[in-house]
Amino acid sequence: MYPAPFRYHRAGSVAEAIRMLGDIGEGARALAGGQSLLVLLKVRFDEPTDLVDLARIPDLDTIDQGNGEIRIGALTTHASIARSELSTAIPIVGDCANGIADNQVRSRGTIGGNVCSGDPSCDWPTLLATLDAQVHCEGPDGKRAVPVTEFVEDLYATVLGQGEIVTGISFPTPAVGSAGAYVGFKRCAPAYPTSSVGLQLALNGDDCEDVRIALGSSGLTSIHATDAEAELRGKTLTDDVIAKAAEAAAAQAEPIEDQRGSEDFKRSLIDTLVKRGVGVARRRCAGETVEVSHEYY
Ligand SMILES: Cc1cc2nc3c(=O)[nH]c(=O)nc-3n(C[C@H](O)[C@H](O)[C@H](O)COP(=O)(O)OP(=O)(O)OC[C@H]3O[C@@H](n4cnc5c(N)ncnc54)[C@H](O)[C@@H]3O)c2cc1C
Repeated sequence: MYPAPFRYHRAGSVAEAIRMLGDIGEGARALAGGQSLLVLLKVRFDEPTDLVDLARIPDLDTIDQGNGEIRIGALTTHASIARSELSTAIPIVGDCANGIADNQVRSRGTIGGNVCSGDPSCDWPTLLATLDAQVHCEGPDGKRAVPVTEFVEDLYATVLGQGEIVTGISFPTPAVGSAGAYVGFKRCAPAYPTSSVGLQLALNGDDCEDVRIALGSSGLTSIHATDAEAELRGKTLTDDVIAKAAEAAAAQAEPIEDQRGSEDFKRSLIDTLVKRGVGVARRRCAGETVEVSHEYY
């Protein structure tokens, strides 16, 4: 199916994009890589009157590090992030970027568009929740930073107001000695994950000093697995402790039965993924190089 007719506009700057989106009003949509939006237009789930293309706005596709913080421009593609030094320095970022779909989607899709989709199956909101990220927004009323956990309010709904766009993402540089893993399970490369888990650990030997766990494709938005964190924080990581945390994560998830699997199947996946994620993060905390990504059926 072809999309319904729309007018196409190309913004040359953030200010121009905000002005165009604000002037056109409700019928306008921002366009980045088009890997989610164009799919919706083609099945006519959305019929905007105008698309404002952000893709040529300069300087929104950079990755910077400094002052204890990582900053990624909204237009940075999944592929650029996968290839970047950041993915080597902070492997959990590479786990996520490399696991998204296939080469074609990774080459066009952007981190900003991924977060703005508000899709609970999208990988970046879950990974970024694990890293305590902020989403940087700019609109007619100026700039603001919103914690990623508050940015996606509900299924396909974000806090963005009329004329407001995302310019970038930032998160604190993980502390030395801490490490994470982002593990997912999906049917094939160009499919969204059936379930995914992002997990960041700070260890002292085998003792868990701090932990952050987020679950993807496990509810209407990413889920902060606080119960699982409580099972790990301040404890020595024995098999029994890890099993209790995995069980708590599976219990806190709110998976929805669909063509990817039943609720029970998805809970058992989360249990397995938490155990796998803890195993990888521990080895990385110990300085080992471990390659992981999404696994297929
Ligand atoms: C076959 C296929 C498989 C996929 N598999 C996965 C997967 O496994 N994991 C995964 O995470 N994703 C997956 N995706 C989605 C892909 O990652 C998209 O790139 C991403 O979700 C949207 O990014 P985009 O740049 O293409 O945004 P677009 O499609 O251009 O836009 C998406 C939405 O965000 C808005 N938007 C975009 N950028 C901005 C901005 N800067 N400010 C404000 N609003 C903005 C748009 O208006 C639109 O509502 C898949 C897509 C396809 C087609």
